[in-house]
Amino acid sequence: MAVELRRERMSAEILDPRAGFERVRTEFEIRWDPLTGQSCRLLAAGSFPPPGRHDLERLAAETREACPFCAGRIEEQTPRLPPEVHAAGRIRSGEAVLFPNLVSYAKWSSVSVYSPQRHLLPIDELTPELIAGNLATQVEFARAVRAHDPDSAWASINANHLAPAGSSIFHPHLQGSVNPRPTTLQRLLAEVEPARIEEYLALERDAGERIVSASAEHVWLASFAPLGPGEMRAFVLGRSSPNDLDEATIGELARGISRVLSVYAELGFESFNLALYGMPDGRPLELRLVARAYYGPALRSDAMWSERLHWEGAVDLEPERVAELARERWARS
Ligand SMILES: [Zn+2]
Repeated sequence: MAVELRRERMSAEILDPRAGFERVRTEFEIRWDPLTGQSCRLLAAGSFPPPGRHDLERLAAETREACPFCAGRIEEQTPRLPPEVHAAGRIRSGEAVLFPNLVSYAKWSSVSVYSPQRHLLPIDELTPELIAGNLATQVEFARAVRAHDPDSAWASINANHLAPAGSSIFHPHLQGSVNPRPTTLQRLLAEVEPARIEEYLALERDAGERIVSASAEHVWLASFAPLGPGEMRAFVLGRSSPNDLDEATIGELARGISRVLSVYAELGFESFNLALYGMPDGRPLELRLVARAYYGPALRSDAMWSERLHWEGAVDLEPERVAELARERWARS
């Protein structure tokens, strides 16, 4: 089946009480992801309330005293890796520190803080240096695990940044998962022929409106059929797993992530999810980021029946607009 950027405009009709019960037509669009077929409903801009703001200083003050990831407590309160996996027990790079997660969600689960010194880290202060240091600890973790346990071939690097994204600990961190079994999306992506990914990226390059940056090694673009608000996607060509990343590639990914986060901040978001989906074999390594928030005074969540029970994103932020903002951001540095 050919790869296509499939979209369908639809309209609904109501007798609108805001217009004296006149007949009114409203429009929306359904789009299908060219790689997985997952669908998305794109609603008119402003269909959902705007992201709410939080007093992060206050939340930081309330959680700092008992935080296990802060300097002074991290050494005593976080686990260590077994010596057969990593002699030092914890992995450090720049300011970042990685240790096993107390809660297992994979055969090898890790947490890595950007810095034990930074309990409060708003998304527009996540510099390329802080992100690169943190990614480097996760890359070293995935490699150390793979060397010790070759069956754990499915590595991913993930983030729930702050409570709206699902984090239970305020102190900003990444999470690693290295497992003998893929997650659902890793499995679906692994079933996509590499030629289809090339075809998808070629289609997007031709279309141009969602492409943010494209080089021989990295492609950054807004997702055609987003899973959530502001979804951005990157492909690292010629690498399949976090284990394959070198310093230059980590630096490039970190610069891109930092730029995407400054776009999210500009749009009023304070929170995000991230996933870097490692594959055991020769498919391009893929990264996805979505903005997260509590919305409006009612603290609405953006997870609805559509995403949770129909596996279909519903967003009111147009991918082409997100790409435009990202291109402006890329042009500034
Ligand atoms: Zn802390």
